[in-house]
Amino acid sequence: MRTVQFLGVDLDVCPTTGGIWFDEGEFGRMRRAINQLPQLEGLAQPEVENQSHRGVRMCPNCGTALDSYRFLYSSPVELDGCGRCNGMWVDDGEIDAMVAVLQRSKSAPPLTEEAAQAIAQMGVESEASIGRAQAVTALIQLAVTPVRRHFF
Ligand SMILES: [Zn+2]
Repeated sequence: MRTVQFLGVDLDVCPTTGGIWFDEGEFGRMRRAINQLPQLEGLAQPEVENQSHRGVRMCPNCGTALDSYRFLYSSPVELDGCGRCNGMWVDDGEIDAMVAVLQRSKSAPPLTEEAAQAIAQMGVESEASIGRAQAVTALIQLAVTPVRRHFF
């Protein structure tokens, strides 16, 4: 693992897969920077193109086997998260996919109290900023609540 600084947050990057590990809350701390998130893709380039990581991965933090989660419950983006310490892997290409999902989604997920407060603090003024705030809410929720597990 290699450490990369992005927007003041130390991120752990896997040099083999190009995946980025977010500790609990780190993704949420980037909530103001949704437009800059695609730059993260450039930080982590996999050594092996299209390397599959499927199979059981372990949490680099606490060693727990990771679960697969779907970003925003139903999007095609799958993330590997730790149910114990709430960290998560975001793989190469997934940041772009997550931003695309956020930009596409018209309906916002229901607000958690914490997310509602964060939005109130941001001072929502125009409809445009409401749309942005909704996308931001999704990021906050991903960071503060375990994403509902997708059963199949
Ligand atoms: Zn963990």
